[in-house]
Amino acid sequence: MTLVDLGIPRLPTSWRDATLPADRPDTPGLVDTFGRVATDLRVSLTDRCNLRCTYCMPAEGLPSLAREKVMSRDEIARLVGVAVRDLGVRQVRFTGGEPLLRGDLAEIVADVAALDPRPEISLTTNAIGLDSRAEGLRAAGVDRINVSLDTLDPDTFARLARRPYLERTLAGIEAAARVFDLVKINAVLVRGVNLDHAADLLSWCLERGFELRFIEQMPLDADHAWDRTAMVTAAEVRGLLGERFDLGPDAEPRDGAPAERFVVRSRDTGERLGRVGIIASVTEPFCGDCRRTRLTAEGGIRDCLFAHTETDLLGPLREGASDAVLADRWRTAMWGKRAGHGMDDPSFVQPDRTMSAIGG
Ligand code: SAM
Ligand code: SF4
Repeated sequence: MTLVDLGIPRLPTSWRDATLPADRPDTPGLVDTFGRVATDLRVSLTDRCNLRCTYCMPAEGLPSLAREKVMSRDEIARLVGVAVRDLGVRQVRFTGGEPLLRGDLAEIVADVAALDPRPEISLTTNAIGLDSRAEGLRAAGVDRINVSLDTLDPDTFARLARRPYLERTLAGIEAAARVFDLVKINAVLVRGVNLDHAADLLSWCLERGFELRFIEQMPLDADHAWDRTAMVTAAEVRGLLGERFDLGPDAEPRDGAPAERFVVRSRDTGERLGRVGIIASVTEPFCGDCRRTRLTAEGGIRDCLFAHTETDLLGPLREGASDAVLADRWRTAMWGKRAGHGMDDPSFVQPDRTMSAIGG
């Protein structure tokens, strides 16, 4: 039995003699013991990034994975193909690190768009460099795009991202708006830094027809500086936005989506201005409805952002495992998914990996 040292606990690569866990039903999908079925795959394409957001990466960056440890274009196509054809995955989101740092991103997207059945393909990015690539990515098959933007103030951007690249992100967003029907913006609010910018950011998004989603900060930062008592909660964001706008319930069913959506109206005229989403991963967790499975840049399956173990698929793939074996290993990995992230449990331990290294 070989053990692969990737810095975090890995299950042994005993794929040749793997047997079905006694209690796992022999079903085709990615079902877990609580009856949840994962149909939404997040694929991290790289652990590298050109920003150093304080809530995600350390100032000095993280040691990059050796090139040969990262999935190649063909390996990604193979594993996503298994997920889509054999495991019932219907949505694929490419993330990272920063997925635009992969020069072969459009080719990877095109490979996945050629699968049958074709999954819905989305991308989460900081948009740096998107101005010259948005059109190519749309043509390759990206259906939906989320861009991360926490503030419109250049100094605050530089403080949060530790890089003075606001203009580059805005240029990328502008290009995305020309090419995609809907641009979603993701924002993380940090007390004492950009909390006061939330309403202005919403106003800016509404004027442009973008859908803004505020994400509660989760304990996935490299500096382990996250503090439950200091974090900005969803309730606080709702209150803050409510001082400038009327927020009402959205009639569209949530349908397992992580964001609770609100219809935004002008306080003066009652005119509908658009929508906003709030993702309360910490204070109002939606683990009971979770449909996610995650593939790291090194080809490991994580059943949760907060998992402490991963199941290696890339090793077996490189050693000649068949699609059927890979699919079965993936099913077994998901079968053991815990009921929830357990952040409220006193025994909660932050995972060793940061958000950038897992794929957010
Ligand atoms: N680099 C790309 C980007 O920033 O959009 C994709 C990867 S990033 C890890 C994906 C998303 O995770 C971003 O929207 C980012 O704001 C969010 N994120 C990162 N660290 C987070 C944390 N500790 N808590 C909540 N969201 C976080
Ligand atoms: Fe990079 Fe995205 Fe993490 Fe910011 S949130 S450091 S852009 S991976």
